[in-house]
Amino acid sequence: MTDPSEGKRPLHFIQQIIADDNASGKFQQKVHTRFPPEPNGYLHIGHAKSICLNYAMAQENNGLFNLRFDDTNPAKEETEYVESIKKDVAWLGAKWDDRLFFASSYFQQMYQWALQLIRQGDAYVCDMSQEEVRAARGTPTEPGTESPWRNRSVEENLDLFERMKNGEFPDGSKTLRAKIDMASPNFNLRDPVMYRILHAEHHRTGTQWCIYPMYDWAHGLEDSIEGITHSICTLEFEHHRPLYDWFLDRLGIYHPQQIEFARLNLTYTVMSKRKLLELVKGNYVSGWDDPRMPTICGYRRRGYTPQSIRNFCKTIGVAKFNSTIDMTVLENSIREDLNKTAQRRMAVLRPIKLIIDNYPEGQVEQLTAVNNPEDEADGTRLVPFARELWIEREDFLEDAPKKYFRLTPGQEVRLRWAYLVTCTGCVKDASGEVIEVHGTYDPATRGGDAPDGRKVRGTIHWVAAPTAVDAEIRLYDRLFSVENPDDAANPLDYKEYLNPNSLEVLRGAKLEPVLRQEATAGETRYQFERIGYFYPDQCSTPDCPVFNRVVSLRDTWAKLAAKS
Ligand code: ATP
Ligand code: MG
Repeated sequence: MTDPSEGKRPLHFIQQIIADDNASGKFQQKVHTRFPPEPNGYLHIGHAKSICLNYAMAQENNGLFNLRFDDTNPAKEETEYVESIKKDVAWLGAKWDDRLFFASSYFQQMYQWALQLIRQGDAYVCDMSQEEVRAARGTPTEPGTESPWRNRSVEENLDLFERMKNGEFPDGSKTLRAKIDMASPNFNLRDPVMYRILHAEHHRTGTQWCIYPMYDWAHGLEDSIEGITHSICTLEFEHHRPLYDWFLDRLGIYHPQQIEFARLNLTYTVMSKRKLLELVKGNYVSGWDDPRMPTICGYRRRGYTPQSIRNFCKTIGVAKFNSTIDMTVLENSIREDLNKTAQRRMAVLRPIKLIIDNYPEGQVEQLTAVNNPEDEADGTRLVPFARELWIEREDFLEDAPKKYFRLTPGQEVRLRWAYLVTCTGCVKDASGEVIEVHGTYDPATRGGDAPDGRKVRGTIHWVAAPTAVDAEIRLYDRLFSVENPDDAANPLDYKEYLNPNSLEVLRGAKLEPVLRQEATAGETRYQFERIGYFYPDQCSTPDCPVFNRVVSLRDTWAKLAAKS
């Protein structure tokens, strides 16, 4: 995940903090980070930012990186999510070696620490309901009201807490709260709840526990147990840091440093797990891995490379203030990556026949095509050429404007890697629709260049009809048609802004023959010349090829915006 150019960039603020800590010896020059997802959904591109950041901080400092499931809420968590998250983190290239942990493994230790706080007079069992606790919290300008149960004796608290653990009380009837300060200007310090009662089965601990720790209580303990040095989280936890620190200080245990950074927001999509789940459950998309989703599995299925996502995360940087990144930045990172690595192929998406009238009937010849002009090592391949070819419907116009350099009667164009062809006319059906284009080729121009050096402005791609492979092509566009579906400026429910044209399926596409063998999803993406980058869908087979468009060749949205 490191790259040689890394050293040239100025340090971002987290790198600077780590450098300072290494200089002062705060953590004895150790760096140990973690990615702590809650297994309640699939990972999205925002998580990728966090994974890349945490992993890079460990890598750059010869440190360690943990993958830890923050599985403290049995109600929403599932093993399916655990498995998908492991797969996604590994795919992105972050290695946790043997350091895969679950917060639920620490439940017993957390319980012991809760007993310690009770004994110290730092925690108490409270009988208020969730609503009562909320109502007593006060406002930003007024202090909260102390719980009537706040001054229970240590003995009573120990007894009640044990009975909570033993399942004697119904859900929601009691909580364990930290005894801090109901007048604190920081709401998080107004006697926050540490444990709640929930008689629910946990995906790992089963029915062993019926009290579950709250995030703020649990998270610092998890970090402490694992010896994390820099606990990196998103900005909304900034006001939770005093509480993170308070718990660790009161317990007197090893104390990691929490550091907050700005979360990633992207235009034309939504990033909250709740909304993504809603899109899946409501069948607005085909699943978590729908190639239009901002999920890691969606991008993987669509054909994004791990490298392109890592490059994206590096490009956007790490900052202390929230902002929204333009989707174009992500799209450009995959374009850049694939431009270097993707082999070129020819495919016709919306085909019409071009018949070369002076080419011998029944003849098929093999022409040489360069696989990747960006990388000579990729060599060449043979592409069959014949009298009947498929070309794009839009590459012929009967009455063309002046600057149209493609096929129109009387005009000569280059067939990529093949010959110069002059258009002679077309055949129409009864309704006047063009069903065939005709032309003649110049046999002296094999390879695509005229010996007399005459200029031909237009070059089009083609596929020989006798050997063409039929395929389904899925063209993906942005999932939403407005930049910020979540923004207050867009008053309707975010689902109202779904882009109705985010998927276009083309069933009669024609591919050059090598693509039949290449139609199974693997490590290889292709550039279909003049069209875009494509990747076989997971359902694709040599008998029924299906290709997903990863991204178009250029940023067509920018072009549209410039036009309007
Ligand atoms: P929710 O969508 O319910 O708020 P979450 O996305 O915060 O959930 P977690 O599983 O708690 O989900 O996230 C795991 C880690 O990923 C956390 O450290 C969190 O800060 C980080 N993270 C989540 N979303 C983003 C984002 N958009 N940008 C950067 N980091 C993120
Ligand atoms: Mg979260």
